[in-house]
Amino acid sequence: MKLEHYIDGAHVPSASGATFHALEPATNNVSLTVASGGAADIDAAVRAARKAFTDGPWPRLTGEQRAVILRGIAAAIESRDDMIAEIECADTGLPITQARGQAHRAAQNFRFFADVITTLNEDVFRVGEAQLNYVVRKPIGVAGLITPWNTPFMLETWKLAPALAAGCPVVLKPAEWSPASASVLPEIMEEGGLPTGVFNLVHGIGEEAGAALVAHPDVPVISFTGETTTGQTIMRSASDHLKTLSMELGGKSPMLVFDDADLDRALDAAVFGVFSLNGERCTASSRVLVQDTVYDDFVARLAERASRVRVGAPSDPTTELGALIHPEHYERVMDYVRIGSAEGARLVAGGSRPDHLPEGNFLSATVFADVTPSMRIFQEEIFGPVVSVTPFTTEAEAVELANDTRYGLAAYLWTNDLRRAHRLAQSIEAGMLWVNSQNVRDLRTPFGGVKASGVGREGGRHSIEMFTEPHIVHVATEDLPIPRFGIA
Ligand code: NAD
Repeated sequence: MKLEHYIDGAHVPSASGATFHALEPATNNVSLTVASGGAADIDAAVRAARKAFTDGPWPRLTGEQRAVILRGIAAAIESRDDMIAEIECADTGLPITQARGQAHRAAQNFRFFADVITTLNEDVFRVGEAQLNYVVRKPIGVAGLITPWNTPFMLETWKLAPALAAGCPVVLKPAEWSPASASVLPEIMEEGGLPTGVFNLVHGIGEEAGAALVAHPDVPVISFTGETTTGQTIMRSASDHLKTLSMELGGKSPMLVFDDADLDRALDAAVFGVFSLNGERCTASSRVLVQDTVYDDFVARLAERASRVRVGAPSDPTTELGALIHPEHYERVMDYVRIGSAEGARLVAGGSRPDHLPEGNFLSATVFADVTPSMRIFQEEIFGPVVSVTPFTTEAEAVELANDTRYGLAAYLWTNDLRRAHRLAQSIEAGMLWVNSQNVRDLRTPFGGVKASGVGREGGRHSIEMFTEPHIVHVATEDLPIPRFGIA
C-alpha cells in the first residue's frame, strides 16, 4: 500500500518522488511505501494553509460554527473507529483493545475542544468609566504539528482539535515509524466539512520534513511531542523566527508506594502504568519506589504479575503487551535490559523475547529490583516494558529519589496519609501528579512536564492559548490625560 501527502485538498506524492518504507512491528515486514516529504512539500503545504488563513473562511467563523465541524469530525472518527484501531494496531504493534481505546479518545478530543471553543470567554478590563480594555484571542496563524509514534492517532488529534478550534489552519507531520492512521484523516476532515486547505498532511523523516516545518517562516507556532533531544534541536531552530512552542517531551516518572497505601490497588496501577501501551508511554510509571517495610513483598508480587502479562500478537484481543514499534527501538530497549543486568540490578521478571514469538519486536514484561539512582536504567527513559524498583526508608528519601532524574513529567503517589499526600505533592518535581490513581486524565487540566520533560502545557484552555495571540484593545470612554509636550 502507498501513502501520499495531503496538500490543499489533494493527495500528492513528494515533489522529489522520494519514498520511505514503514514496517509492521509484529513481523518487521515492509507494510507501506510512504511519500517522503522535503522542504518543497512542506512549503506547498504551508502555502495552502497560509492561504486558508489569510483568505479562507476558517479563522473568521464563530466558535460555534467551527464547533459544528469539529463535532462532525468526531462523528467521522467514531464511524470508523474499528478501522482506525486495526490500522493503528498493525502499524504500531499496540494491542488491539488499547488501540480501540485510543481511537475513542481521538473522537473525544474533537468533541471536547468543540465544547471548549464555544464556552471560552474573552476578557474585558474596565477602568472606572474612563477606559474599556478588551482582549480578543486571535488565531495565531498556520500551526505546525509534529507527533511521535507511540499513540499516533490520539496524539495527532490532541493537537489538531485545539489548533482547528482556535481557527488555525494546520500542517501535520506524523512520525515516520507510524504513518498509517494519519492517512485516514483527510477523508475524516472532508466528511466533517472542513474547508479545503485548512488541514494539510506531509509525511516524512524528522530531520527533513519536520525540520523544514520548524524552519518555515510562515509557521508561527510549533506543537511538538517527542524525545527531549529532538525538542532541543527544534527549540534551537525555532529561535530564528521566535516561534511559539509547546514541547511535550520524555519522562521517567516515579511511582511512590508507602506502606500505609492500598497495596493491592498500587500493584494494579504499577503493572498497568508501565506495561500498558507496550510501555511506550511518556507518562509510564517506570520507576517504582517502595517503602522498605513492604519492599520485598511488593517486588515479589510485581514480578509475579509481570510474568503473567500476556505478550502476543497485537491483533489478538487477549493480548496485553504487543510488539515494540521498530527493530531499532527494540534493540535500544534490549540494550537497556543488558545494561541493567550489567549494572548489578536484579532481574526478577522478563528480560527476554517470549519463546512463542520468534519474530517481531516482542519483549516480555521486565522488572528490575534493587535499582539505584546511579544506574542508567534509573535515569534514562527506556520507553518500553521495563520497570525499575528501588527501596526507600523515609519520606525525605522517597522525595529525593523521585526528583533525582533530569525528567519531570508525571508522578504517582500511593499513601492513605492525607497530610503526607498533600505534603509530597508539593515537593515532587513533576508537571502532573496523581494521588492513589493511575493516569486518569481530565482533558481540561494542564498536560505537560517540568525540567527535561517539556516547556508549556496543552489541554483545555492551555491549548487554545497556545494557538491564539491575545490582542488587547484600549478604548478611552472619557478624555484620558495626555501630557502636552511642545507648547511651552
Ligand atoms: P522523536 O523525537 O524521535 O520524534 C517525534 C517527531 O519528531 C517525529 O515526527 C519525528 O519525525 C520528528 N522529528 C525528529 N527529528 C526532528 C527534527 N530535527 N526536526 C523536526 N522534527 C523532527 O520521538 P519518538 O521516538 O517518535 O517518540 C518517543 C518520545 O516521545 C519519547 O521520548 C516519549 O516520552 C515522548 N512522548 C512525550 C509525550 C508527552 O506528552 N510528554 C507523549 C508521547 C511521547
